[in-house]
Amino acid sequence: MCTSPAIISRIIAGLSERRLLINRCDDCGTWIYPHRPLCPNCWSWSVQPKEVSGLGRVYMFTLLHQLRDPKAMIYEPMPVAAVELVEQDGLRYLSRIVHCKEQEIEHGMRVQLTWIEVDGNSGRHSSRSITMGAFMARNPLKDQIAIIGVGSTAYGRDLKRSPLSLGLEAAIRAIEDAGIDKQAVDGICGTGMTPLAMGNAGFLSLQGALGIEQTTWAKNGWLGSAFVLAAEAVFSGLCDTALVVQAYTREPGMSRAASADPFRARAQAFGEVGGDVFCSDFAKRWLHSGEPYAAWMRRYMYQYGTDGDAFALMAVNNRSHASRNPEA
Ligand SMILES: [Zn+2]
Repeated sequence: MCTSPAIISRIIAGLSERRLLINRCDDCGTWIYPHRPLCPNCWSWSVQPKEVSGLGRVYMFTLLHQLRDPKAMIYEPMPVAAVELVEQDGLRYLSRIVHCKEQEIEHGMRVQLTWIEVDGNSGRHSSRSITMGAFMARNPLKDQIAIIGVGSTAYGRDLKRSPLSLGLEAAIRAIEDAGIDKQAVDGICGTGMTPLAMGNAGFLSLQGALGIEQTTWAKNGWLGSAFVLAAEAVFSGLCDTALVVQAYTREPGMSRAASADPFRARAQAFGEVGGDVFCSDFAKRWLHSGEPYAAWMRRYMYQYGTDGDAFALMAVNNRSHASRNPEA
């Protein structure tokens, strides 16, 4: 027994309005697909089509090599997947995967709903376009943003230079490496939390010192997240060419030598040392930035039975990379 014709027509009408509707039980909330009139969980007949978010993951897929579209080339397979929707475990919608090379489709890949128009054959008379739900990789920035230049500076324990000085040197090298005019830079993501901390490589200091005349996007960010922010800014059109500068020096107090030094140890105890409020607070609670991770490491060792040798290998590996870096 199929679901009622009235419900099927609502679901089909939803497609033409670009809304993906799936039957749901009014009594217990269970999503039901393929479309059926009875809730398999509570046997309720009170089943209505409801719109889903369109977010999910590829549960399984195959590549159809049979010719479905007369205009398609035979060597262009059509990817078809069961997409497990986020609404419910096991709720899998059968659909095409689009805007994605077939070799890039993976099990578990995050996807989102999109809509395609296909030629529908409406019988002997004519063909008309039909709106169909399809899924695309949920990573719209993929292949849209590129890193075009990279610059770095010397890396060391005590270089006697401010983060701004190091950041400017890296920025100049990155702009030269990209082979662009500095005025092509119209977005800047500087270092840290506060725009005007003395000696920090914040966006205001960077823009002024580099003589970049105009930006349409400026922000400070932390470490890897700064690249994500810049990629988002370029993708959304806030700027075309973003300069990302991350330059840090170890805060006074965050070292063994500092804790042995009467002045710095005392200053650290009062939270007076550090570039801004966050850093000084940080320094008070954790002597070194590695320490917060130590607790996570112990949890990892407990959970997975990893011993210290595995971590020793990481340390050896990191140091062997560092030894090959001429600027370290
Ligand atoms: Zn139910």
